[in-house]
Amino acid sequence: MEGVHLVRRVLTAATAALTLTTAGTMLTSAPGLAAPTAWGRPTVTLAPQPGAPGLGDSYFPDYGNGGYDVSHYDVRLRYDPATDLLTGTTTILATATEDLSRFNLDFLLDVESVRVNGWAATTSTAGAHELVVTPTRTVTRGQQLTIVVRYAGIPSETLVGGYTGWTRTDDGALAVNEPESAWWWFPSNDHPLDKATFDISVSVPTGVEVISNGVQPRPPLAEAGNRTRWSWRTTSPTATYLAFMAIGQYDIVTDTTPSGQPVVNAYSTSLGELGPAARASIERTAEIVDWESGIFGPYPFEAQGGVAGPVDGIGFALETQTRPVYGPGFWRRGANTYVVAHENAHQWFGDSVSVAEWRNIWLNEGFASYAEWLWSEEQGEGTAQEVFDFTYASYPADSEFWQVLPGDPGADRVFDNAVYDRGAMTLHQLRLAVGDDAFFEILPAWTAEHRYGNGTIAQFQALAERISGLDLDELFTTWLFTAGRPDVATAARRAATPPVEPKSWAKIREAHDLLSH
Ligand SMILES: [Zn+2]
Repeated sequence: MEGVHLVRRVLTAATAALTLTTAGTMLTSAPGLAAPTAWGRPTVTLAPQPGAPGLGDSYFPDYGNGGYDVSHYDVRLRYDPATDLLTGTTTILATATEDLSRFNLDFLLDVESVRVNGWAATTSTAGAHELVVTPTRTVTRGQQLTIVVRYAGIPSETLVGGYTGWTRTDDGALAVNEPESAWWWFPSNDHPLDKATFDISVSVPTGVEVISNGVQPRPPLAEAGNRTRWSWRTTSPTATYLAFMAIGQYDIVTDTTPSGQPVVNAYSTSLGELGPAARASIERTAEIVDWESGIFGPYPFEAQGGVAGPVDGIGFALETQTRPVYGPGFWRRGANTYVVAHENAHQWFGDSVSVAEWRNIWLNEGFASYAEWLWSEEQGEGTAQEVFDFTYASYPADSEFWQVLPGDPGADRVFDNAVYDRGAMTLHQLRLAVGDDAFFEILPAWTAEHRYGNGTIAQFQALAERISGLDLDELFTTWLFTAGRPDVATAARRAATPPVEPKSWAKIREAHDLLSH
């Protein structure tokens, strides 16, 4: 994705402040009970502990929770566009990974009740977005958990640090954001380290459409009170921020790819004169996914598509799994297939292979941006080398751009331009260093080895070194982890004659201006 700078800064600051509170709470909890044994020698018998309020992410320490692993979310909602009132029940299937006296979920709406394996639990809130669940009976390691949370709220008015990740529109809403999105519509273990499958069903007034991930296990079903329930299902592991809903007035176009995959595209009826450009871009999804499959390896998911959001919706695009959502800005100057190539490249880089920690964001954005350069080459609108030269030259050596490290940009610069542009430049330098044969072997090897899992930059470097047989430490250190503009022999040679602007540049620039910040 790219595009929500200011609010992200505010949210990061608020979250960081509240993390201290959560950590302080942890320190005061009892570490365990010492009990004498039959031999009279004290031994430590660990009592069930509170689950950690976070998964230790270095940028977002309280995102996700410790002590359990979710396998499935059943999210059953009722939504009314007129009031933005969201009510629902989410049933979470999980396995305890520790003995737990209590555990946390990440959630912001008002909770009516929580049951754990049928028994009522008590709840409280903590930190910026923690729902603390204390079950009646302690949970033992390895236990299967069925956690049922009933709740209600108005997501657009539920703020954390002055911010909501939920977008209310004239005719509905978009639950589309990164990394914070789930808090406003379903309780979760909100970190890419804990992926799960989803059943998402939403009751809305008849005449309103609901689009979400995956496939429709059944057609929309009429309900009492002139309402309709829409159902969607994902059967591949999905990170919580990649689940989404688009609710409103949409034209839905369904099809099947030559390879037999269901395609669901949806276009907000509010797009007006932007509508044809949106269709001329998103209707090429199957073609672009097929082309990307030839470079990145087999497409990892069960469906494809895209959603063109409304004119009063989001100002960016997001690689929501199986079906990216695009803001209207991409269509203002005609079709833009570069953003389609970018968001669908994320299906491999970001969605199937997710960051192990948010500091590894280059593994998402660097690769999705380089996919645009490869698409430029494929379309005859400028080679990747030409796009590299022009991008490199477009940032003067003293630009602040070169001070941001794509390999460790900082929590408030996760979506900085440098992560995208210098990130793509890094991959081009890798390609030049190892040669095309090794480079195009590394990409599918990476998506195969970490399919449906997580990865780190160090693991990617190790894979690239293994396949190429080269020591790449200097290249990765220079391009991802060192401030300042790296010297590039080819660009230096051309310094006297500025590189020519590739035909693809305006579209790539347009996409990145909306995607990064
Ligand atoms: Zn992206």
